Amino acid sequence: MRSANLLVSKTLAEMAKVVRPGVTTMELDTIAEQFIRDNGGEPTFKGCPNPFGPAFPASICTSVNEVVVHGIPGSQVLQEGDIVSIDCGALLNGYNGDSCYTFPVGEVSPAVAELLRTTKESLYKGIEQALAGKRLGDIGYAVQHHCEARGYGVVREFVGHGIGREMHEDPQVPNYGKRGNGVQIKNGLCIAIEPMITMGSPKVEMLADRWTVRTQDGKPAAHFEHTIAVHHGKADILSSFEEIERILGE
Ligand code: MG
Ligand code: MG
Repeated sequence: MRSANLLVSKTLAEMAKVVRPGVTTMELDTIAEQFIRDNGGEPTFKGCPNPFGPAFPASICTSVNEVVVHGIPGSQVLQEGDIVSIDCGALLNGYNGDSCYTFPVGEVSPAVAELLRTTKESLYKGIEQALAGKRLGDIGYAVQHHCEARGYGVVREFVGHGIGREMHEDPQVPNYGKRGNGVQIKNGLCIAIEPMITMGSPKVEMLADRWTVRTQDGKPAAHFEHTIAVHHGKADILSSFEEIERILGE
């Protein structure tokens, strides 16, 4: 599980090197797919089935500004001040990695920078609650409370998930909840925790391509995701933002 997740993290670090004004999301996808395959992995998003429409055509999701999740790479050119959430999944030696990072494109406004910072903080607040004996509601509560207390919206329609031999397994891991509620956390549980946080209303809508999910009010959204394993009673973070942040100088 760690190998697959570190491959995903290294792929996102490659993205950190090339995200800048002028690059297209399709160029990012090409680089990511090549990197995953060169390192012996398979991009799990490519061909991911959709009950409502065509399978996902690319290796990463690129969700720009008001797009929350599942943006399809294409001819869109990233502009100074944009943000792009790059969600990446890879299969390596039979196990899945899944992680997402929202990148600033050039210089972003202080308000947008604050959205990114708060969303990432909320991910770690959630991870802190992933202790054996606690419940998934404790994770959801921690994420929700951190973001809503700062005036942000928590998307309800999309959630984190169990992960292992399949990219999406039970249980669902909502980014909202009540303390002490939900599935009990035990050693051996592997989950992806992935807050999707909006600057305005948490309401989202799906575009006609049956993949792209954007905020209804058009305000920006951020998305950070780690895959963790509960081990010796606490969360072992299997993916890593270290290399990404070294490259971004954060
Ligand atoms: Mg993901
Ligand atoms: Mg995920």
